[in-house]
Amino acid sequence: MQLIWLRNDLRLHDQPAFRIAKARQEPLAVVFILPGHWLQTDRQGLDRLGAAKARFLRQSLDDLDAQLQRSGLGLTVLSGDPVALLRRWHRQSAFHLITQAAQAPEEGAWLRALADAGISIETVENQTLFDSEQIAPLLAGWPKSFTAFRHRVESGLEPRVPRAPESLSAAPAEPPFDAAVRWPGGSDTEEGRSQFRGGERAGLERLDDYLWRRRALDHYRDSRNQLIGRDFASQLSPWLAWGCLSVREVWHQIRRYEARYGEDEQRYWLRFELLWREFFHCSMRHYGRLLFRRDGLAARPLPETRFQASYWHAWCQGRTGVPMVDAGLRELTATGYCSNRLRQNLASYLIHQLGLDWRLGARFFERHLIDFDVASNQGNWAYIAGAGQDPRQGRRFDLNWQLRRYDPALMHIRHWLPELADIDIESIIAHQSGRRLLSCYPAPVVSVPEGG
Ligand SMILES: Cc1cc2nc3c(=O)[nH]c(=O)nc-3n(C[C@H](O)[C@H](O)[C@H](O)COP(=O)(O)OP(=O)(O)OC[C@H]3O[C@@H](n4cnc5c(N)ncnc54)[C@H](O)[C@@H]3O)c2cc1C
Repeated sequence: MQLIWLRNDLRLHDQPAFRIAKARQEPLAVVFILPGHWLQTDRQGLDRLGAAKARFLRQSLDDLDAQLQRSGLGLTVLSGDPVALLRRWHRQSAFHLITQAAQAPEEGAWLRALADAGISIETVENQTLFDSEQIAPLLAGWPKSFTAFRHRVESGLEPRVPRAPESLSAAPAEPPFDAAVRWPGGSDTEEGRSQFRGGERAGLERLDDYLWRRRALDHYRDSRNQLIGRDFASQLSPWLAWGCLSVREVWHQIRRYEARYGEDEQRYWLRFELLWREFFHCSMRHYGRLLFRRDGLAARPLPETRFQASYWHAWCQGRTGVPMVDAGLRELTATGYCSNRLRQNLASYLIHQLGLDWRLGARFFERHLIDFDVASNQGNWAYIAGAGQDPRQGRRFDLNWQLRRYDPALMHIRHWLPELADIDIESIIAHQSGRRLLSCYPAPVVSVPEGG
């Protein structure tokens, strides 16, 4: 028997695991395991599966199950310790395991423990543009910056062209036990406010719509820093993060688009951003656990941080008194998504203004983001904190300047903070910089002085 264990590669297209399984011609089970510790809370009371994230994941699993059912298979969903569950299953009914190569150190530990238990494992690479063997020669001598990485990749490397989905014909194999999933309830999100629906079919639909029907790629570089709207950026990240969409498929569709309509900066820039994602993924493979330490890759220790519970709670609840930050946090917790520009500002405020440990913010994002991707999340947080691979050793954003530049008409703020509907931008800047406080809004827990 053979077992495909899917993690964040929840799709049938560009899915080498199914090709391998088909060639082996043995009974097949397909499983997803919700790791039990995702539901446990840490010292700050954070688990890893907020309501919006859980909903997106469930929709993705349901979609995959429905598609597999058509081939007489179906998806088994279990919950618990993946290593313990797979070892137990293997003892009762031995299998050959086909699964994704590890990205995070935690996954590496799982795969090693399974191999130690005598399970034969075959790995596939489904989250990155390039396979390890493709990229290894280029990365001999790890590049010092994203720019160096990009130059090497762009000097002749292309992701493999995805193959068409396999028609599956394996006989289904059942798990010999039941480990029912306990999903978290959905109180801190509003279904109606999320524009994202989980699943491979919804992801492919969004890609088609964004690229080919709306042709929004034509203005991508100019609009990608906006804060609100449907097409300012691709908004493909949730499907990419769960692997409902193959990043190689996205890349090659952009290439086809460029071939049809011509190459320019606007269209190229989406591939440029996909290379950022690739950079963080390769970085995680290269540095592993180092990226989870407070000082990360910093040449010198980072400034000391002091945990201020009141700052932390104000930030988590979107009640810092700094409207752009609060609006971003309210969007994030309600929908599981917010724009890249807002994420940068939320992170900068937590790290450089509130003086909190960047890893707290990263954990909060992990809980809420429907596009949570360990490499991109850890990489971006570390980068802003100065613990990442950045020649400038950290990024501090001037939130007053950011507001004038990216929300000059206050469209985002007014959408998420209706209590500020009648307030103009100068009054907001006077408020958040501590110059003249508004009576209708909480005072900033830490103000943002003009000029930084
Ligand atoms: C503090 C912080 C935490 C973040 N955490 C995550 C995360 O957990 N998961 C995640 O996918 N992205 C994360 N990002 C990166 C980025 O914000 C999102 O990928 C992007 O906002 C998703 O929206 P989009 O699909 O419209 O992006 P687009 O602008 O359309 O970009 C296309 C794709 O390129 C990739 N991409 C774009 N920018 C980045 C970037 N800076 N880093 C890595 N990949 C990028 C994403 O896969 C994205 O879907 C984080 C950024 C910051 C500043």
